[in-house]
Amino acid sequence: LFIVFEGGDGVGKSTQADLLCRWLTEAGVECVRTFEPGDSLVGTKIRQIVLDPATGDLAPRAEALLYAADKAHHLYELVEPALRRGAVVVCDRYVDSMLAYQGAGRVLDIAEVERVARWATGDLRPHLTVLLDVDPSEAVHSKVDKDRLEAAGDVFHQRTREYFLQLAARDPEHYLVLHARDSVEQIAAAVQDRVHQLVS
Ligand code: C5P
Repeated sequence: LFIVFEGGDGVGKSTQADLLCRWLTEAGVECVRTFEPGDSLVGTKIRQIVLDPATGDLAPRAEALLYAADKAHHLYELVEPALRRGAVVVCDRYVDSMLAYQGAGRVLDIAEVERVARWATGDLRPHLTVLLDVDPSEAVHSKVDKDRLEAAGDVFHQRTREYFLQLAARDPEHYLVLHARDSVEQIAAAVQDRVHQLVS
């Protein structure tokens, strides 16, 4: 089972991914908690390139290809082996982030970005994507130093939010949209409910 958390910056994806994995582990299910970009040696290096403000101006296509490379390697090294042995993989961000940020948020054609992302991932799709949605102006930013992208303007973040919502609306069977400002406990319970339905 492959479960992904998506949404803008500072919406609580990683907290919820941790809670879900803990809940699964306590139920005796092997859970691999991971994230993109970066959860591999190669990914750490790619993450540095794409997020370090010192990188400066990065060509949008180069950025998209770097994210795609991170995904391809992450699947190869971690996600696919875990899924093959029957573990549940809980991933913080996946293809939708690429479509929303490199596609809808930037200047690239979304259909082209999607082709690259699907190619990079061999079209492996999550069984469930939990979208934590909130108006970007209400998102809680816990990080003091904004990275290269968090410093992007409001219009960018509005566009990415809208696109995440569109993706979810198109495929309700594989998405759970939750309001990110609900309590941590409320969100965790809703996620567990849905995952419980998937595994039973
Ligand atoms: O989720 P996390 O905080 O690790 O993401 C790091 C940064 O990378 C965020 O600012 C996010 O907006 C950005 N990002 C991106 N495109 C992606 C994935 C993440 O711009 N495909």
